[in-house]
Amino acid sequence: MGSATHVPGVYRDFPARYSCGMVQHALRLACCALALTFIAPGQPAHAQAPDTRSTRNVVLIVSDGLRWQEIFTGADPTLLTEKNGGIWDKEQDLRREFWREDVNERRRLLFPFLWTTVAAHGQIFGNQTKGSIARVTNGLAFSYPGYNEMLTGHPDPRINSNAFGPNPNVSVFEWLDTQPDLHGRVSVYATWAIFKDIFNVQRSHLPMRVGWDAPYQGKLNARQELMNELYRTMTRLDDEDVYNAFQQIPLLDSFAEHQPRVLFVGYGETDNWGHAGRYDLLLHSAHAFDHFVEELWNTLQRLPAYRDQTTFIITTDHGRGSGPVEWKEHGVEEKGSENIWIAVLGPDTPALGERHDTAEVHQAQIAATVAALLGKDYPKAVPAAAAPLADVLRRRP
Ligand SMILES: [Zn+2]
Repeated sequence: MGSATHVPGVYRDFPARYSCGMVQHALRLACCALALTFIAPGQPAHAQAPDTRSTRNVVLIVSDGLRWQEIFTGADPTLLTEKNGGIWDKEQDLRREFWREDVNERRRLLFPFLWTTVAAHGQIFGNQTKGSIARVTNGLAFSYPGYNEMLTGHPDPRINSNAFGPNPNVSVFEWLDTQPDLHGRVSVYATWAIFKDIFNVQRSHLPMRVGWDAPYQGKLNARQELMNELYRTMTRLDDEDVYNAFQQIPLLDSFAEHQPRVLFVGYGETDNWGHAGRYDLLLHSAHAFDHFVEELWNTLQRLPAYRDQTTFIITTDHGRGSGPVEWKEHGVEEKGSENIWIAVLGPDTPALGERHDTAEVHQAQIAATVAALLGKDYPKAVPAAAAPLADVLRRRP
């Protein structure tokens, strides 16, 4: 951390003041104010003053069911065993790869991009060992209620199952798509097919690439043919959730054709390997997730429409239990599943690094934060929505 190198896309006018689902669907079913004042008092509604924000694009990225414990403390030593962690790797090999005595070194080993770039040049909430708490407020701590909360800005007690069906609530993505300057510039990539319901695709008509649907259509080149063939022929761990790596290729390719200004990217694997009780694969997948986020950041920074004007919000939909068995599952039965983490990196986010001793922040605040970064007042349109995370938004001068 504290690297002096310039990170493309991150302005340096804020000194770093601080260092820094489901194995089977059934399993998943079972377990699973600071109002941002862009407007000075006395000014008429919607920002008349010159817009000093640099963010023109927002990418919301989620790794499903990835615990705050791994994010902030790296590999859990009690789970690096066959008995608790169900590991097939040799324990010493896994330790060589992911274990270090020093906690900062250990977490950086698992999440190098998150800790050397995001936390150094942006902010990350949720380290409970340092007095920063990030939580879901939906009381259920499994996927659909969580995604609904983060995407609509409020929990909905009706949504109490991943099989709930089409979401009656309008997500901030669907709402942003109704704004004249963003219409047609909002899209969704997610490994989990249930996002068709969560974003209510029949109503929202958001462009979506989810689950095992063939990623390419029309006249295909050899690379695209190959990807489609793998989608058709690969043995599926989960019928509704494609592998993260299979999503990454079409996602990175897509920017040559479409350049959305508001993008959701959902990666599902970390939850699946948790439910499968495979801590070795969870660690490998979490490490690969970090790399995928880095690749996405670097890909976008090479494109003029995104360079220096894109903010990433990176988070999870729920936590998990803790303990030798409890880590595998999440929900009301597994204490602590409500605890999450939220990271933000972009040109309008002061580089406060790893947050400590903060007021509690909530999953519901993510929706308004996505909108506020784009200069939109979502809670004004949806009064039930929580306020944005004020600390990640540059104050207007
Ligand atoms: Zn799950």
